[in-house]
Parts: sequence; C-alpha cells; structure tokens
Amino acid sequence: MEKKKKLVVGWFSFSCSEDSTILFTELLNEHLDEWKKVIEFRHLKTLKSNNSIEGLDVAFVEGAIASPTQEKELKKIRENCKSLVAIGSCACTGTPSNCRNKLVPEEVNYKISWYLSNFDYSKEVKKLADIVKVDDEVNGCPMNAEVFLKIMDKYLKKYA
Ligand code: SF4
Repeated sequence: MEKKKKLVVGWFSFSCSEDSTILFTELLNEHLDEWKKVIEFRHLKTLKSNNSIEGLDVAFVEGAIASPTQEKELKKIRENCKSLVAIGSCACTGTPSNCRNKLVPEEVNYKISWYLSNFDYSKEVKKLADIVKVDDEVNGCPMNAEVFLKIMDKYLKKYA
C-alpha cells in the first residue's frame, strides 16, 4: 500500500512574546500522537535542533516584522511554502508589537532612540500582510486555539 504523504509544516516566530508558540506546545499534549502520524514538523526551533525551511506545505508565522533582516527572512519563508498562515494579533495586525509606530517625538527618550539606532530596526513595525501574501489568519492575543485547530485540519485535507 502506498504511504500517505504527510503535511509538511514550519513554525516561525518574529518580534513577539511567543505566547502562541507556548499555546501550540500545550496543544501538543493533546494532539501529538495523532499529529505525528500525519504531520512532519520540518521547522520548529522551539522543540528541535534540526530544522529546514525547504519544501513546506504550510508555514505558521507568529510575530510582527520589525527589521529589514526579518523582512528578508519572511520573504524566504514565503518562497519555500505553499501556504502561509499568520498566527496571533502581532502577525495579523501588527499590534501590540507595533506600539512604537505610534510614539510621538516627545515620547522617544534617550533609551528608545539608542535602541532604534543601535539595532537593526525598521522605521515601522509591520504586519505580515504588509510584506508577503498571507493565506489565512489565526487572530487573538495569543492565537485562538479553536481556529488554529480548524486551520490545521483544513491544510491536512488540502495537502496530506
Ligand atoms: S499577539 Fe499577543 S500573545 Fe501573540 S505575540 Fe503578540 S503580544 Fe504575544
């Protein structure tokens, strides 16, 4: 009998608190046995050390984009996946990671301007859709777990 293709998944985090990654890890308590039969987690740096972004069916991307380097990485992920899903409010809308976009000059004190000029930061923090095509969104802060599970099922049906 021909072996069924697994859904090839990547999980990525940019500027954020990584709470959706924690929530995803919690979901593994309940779903790992069932998922490991049908999903290959090809990129999941929080949980494994051998990671690759090549040939992904779905990339789940958490966090907002705060630097040119992150923009480049996100475009590379987009080139290597069939579908890209924004995970959590920071990825879907930019907020709350983008609160510095709204700072007025009087609020930019010495400490803030030091960080902005000494690290690789863009002028503005962006949501994923400002840079690449986003196929689905799981909004919430952190992500809505029920919606995430439905989206995982949708892509299992589509690609596995
Ligand atoms: S959406 Fe909320 S939980 Fe998710 S990374 Fe942003 S701040 Fe953290």
